[in-house]
Amino acid sequence: MDFSLTAENLAYRDRVRAIVAETVTPDVVDRMHTTGTFNSPELNLALARAGLVERAVPGLGKGDPIELYILFNELEKAGAPFDGLAIALMIAGVVQAVGTDEQKQRILPTITSGEALVCMGYSEPDNGSDLANIKTRAVRDGDEWVINGAKMWTTMAHEASWVILLTRTDPELPPRRGLTMFILPMDTPGITVDPVHTMATERTNATYYDDVRVGDEAVLGAVNGGWATMMVALSFERGVMGGTNPGVALLRHFADWAAESGLVESPTCRERLARMAIDNHVATLLTQRSAWIAASGGQAGLEGSITKVFAVEAYQKAARWCQEMAGPAGLLQFHQPGAAAGGFVDYDARHSPVTTIYGGTTEINRNNIAERHLGLPKAR
Ligand SMILES: Cc1cc2nc3c(=O)[nH]c(=O)nc-3n(C[C@H](O)[C@H](O)[C@H](O)COP(=O)(O)OP(=O)(O)OC[C@H]3O[C@@H](n4cnc5c(N)ncnc54)[C@H](O)[C@@H]3O)c2cc1C
Repeated sequence: MDFSLTAENLAYRDRVRAIVAETVTPDVVDRMHTTGTFNSPELNLALARAGLVERAVPGLGKGDPIELYILFNELEKAGAPFDGLAIALMIAGVVQAVGTDEQKQRILPTITSGEALVCMGYSEPDNGSDLANIKTRAVRDGDEWVINGAKMWTTMAHEASWVILLTRTDPELPPRRGLTMFILPMDTPGITVDPVHTMATERTNATYYDDVRVGDEAVLGAVNGGWATMMVALSFERGVMGGTNPGVALLRHFADWAAESGLVESPTCRERLARMAIDNHVATLLTQRSAWIAASGGQAGLEGSITKVFAVEAYQKAARWCQEMAGPAGLLQFHQPGAAAGGFVDYDARHSPVTTIYGGTTEINRNNIAERHLGLPKAR
């Protein structure tokens, strides 16, 4: 497998880097950590105006998947707030893949212009890993659908223009066959958003749907085909849309602080920095492998699981090492005098465990690898 980038890919990367350098200012990073909203409208608009967003839409843009990988890898390494853009691009890919022509015309330009975000309403209070058993109902009433239910962890719901919503339309069918996906405007009457602040800094939301009425124009994919629509979204993620190199920014911040504070003289510190650098490199190679498999027409879903499990476990181990080495300074937060690496050590120690949960937990990903890669019997 040859991971070298073409001249066109390198030019794309240079343009992303230039925009990141210009728009991801210390104030933007500080706002991300203060509000817990990992999104930057300035960055999204700048990338979109330069044409870099449309090119990367999964399944649609001519830069998918290598430029999609480059875009999010650059944003992640820079510590930029990119979650809003990543979700929006993934769902743009789903609309392109299974949406009607009318939906493509109405929805896609709002996303590729960098203006509209999308939130994902899959998980519920009692169903996260076990999505096939979600309870939110959509019931036919004349020409309309009436949606009632509650979703949990609807990240970006407070900023998004659209929600992609997994509902149960036929409780008589087996769990996966009675589901329908909708995409509807977040300002549709009957939707309520309540903030959920996490230990990871990230703000997410609980969302409620009370007699929300939509027409057939909101059905994304086939009625009772919601599971297939969701699989399209998962297949686009493939481990190439960020989340697989979170240790790069941590290593940069910690190595700078260790040099300033003199900690770097310690042999233990030097050894751990080297191990962190090796793990980051392995995570990068695994991410590239996913992107290159997808680029050559292969299915990279399983590689996404492998990459994510390795990267987030390495990140969590590195964050714990850094906090241990920093001592009390590693417990101080941003804006507190004396905080190790300006507060990033505390942040990464709180943030890293949560990365092993969202986007599919490590246990679920291990099950995938065991069953689909190693051919072991099903866990249940
Ligand atoms: C910060 C954050 C942001 C999120 N954003 C979104 C979002 O935007 N949209 C959205 O829809 N969801 C989102 N999620 C939800 C996320 O996808 C779920 O939290 C995740 O899938 C786990 O589901 P759960 O929380 O219900 O835990 P559970 O599924 O109840 O799992 C609890 C524990 O049991 C383990 N477990 C469960 N089933 C199995 C099994 N079969 N084999 C082995 N172990 C198992 C899990 O690994 C976990 O350790 C977000 C979560 C977080 C924390």
